[in-house]
Amino acid sequence: MQGAGTGEVGLFIDLENIRYSFLNVYQIEPNVAQFIEKARKHGRVSVAMAYADFSEHPQWVRRALDVAGIAARDIPVRRFVRDGHERLKSSADLHMLMDIMETALDRPQVSTYVLMTGDSDYIRVITWIKNRFEKRVIVCGVPGTISADLVAAAGEADHLAADHGVATDALLGTIEAVAIMMKRATPPTGFWTIKLIDQWARDSRNGVPGNDPDKSNAISYMIKNGLMRRYKTVTDVREVTISELDETHPMVRQFVANAGLELDPAPLRCLVCAARNAIDVVICVGCGAVLEIRLIAEET
Ligand SMILES: [Zn+2]
Repeated sequence: MQGAGTGEVGLFIDLENIRYSFLNVYQIEPNVAQFIEKARKHGRVSVAMAYADFSEHPQWVRRALDVAGIAARDIPVRRFVRDGHERLKSSADLHMLMDIMETALDRPQVSTYVLMTGDSDYIRVITWIKNRFEKRVIVCGVPGTISADLVAAAGEADHLAADHGVATDALLGTIEAVAIMMKRATPPTGFWTIKLIDQWARDSRNGVPGNDPDKSNAISYMIKNGLMRRYKTVTDVREVTISELDETHPMVRQFVANAGLELDPAPLRCLVCAARNAIDVVICVGCGAVLEIRLIAEET
């Protein structure tokens, strides 16, 4: 096995796979600086690329990649209709495969390949660059989302860990500020969507503390942990998914009390008819459905 610094390093990041795996497993955004550090351990990084349809990710992702010296390869998703349903086709993985192969053929000085993905689609290319070119391959994925065959093919793994807790004190401050922003204001559309919450949270006039990744983390924490409730509705033009603060959630109730604001007297949204009910109501006043009781584990 070659030691550190004996050749150049190529870093290839399947950003789609890594970012969504991070959000699912750790409920936080990945730290892009950690990506480049993982590669630097093995020598001088002469190729560093990340693949995604960047229109599907917040703007700070691309800026963080720029700052880390990682080239963003923007591969727009193709949309098409089959059997009356809109479908999406991403070819980001195909572009990453081609770039790995081109690097193996055209840049012989790159001796170590750091592949950030958990996807078994890369097994063949890994086997190919190892067997045909005697390259060293290290797989970096998010634990719990990595194909075992992929790691076996590479022979080496160096997985990505969450480098801070799920809800640090700083993140809680951001979460509380987003909750209060949603409580105090209603956007001109009359309702909140994730896009609007994200835009308002990033607008300095709204006083939400933290950097852009903190704000994305706060919003995803609120969705995952039930501080926001989401439901679909049809406006006169299209279907939208509305996000609203869930004032039945104990954290939200605490935030509202901390801010000295009045709690909503009818915070319980019926998932059948969307009517609002008092917190202690069991049968919906709008449609008679039995209201879903969400049990929230007490924080210990
Ligand atoms: Zn109802």
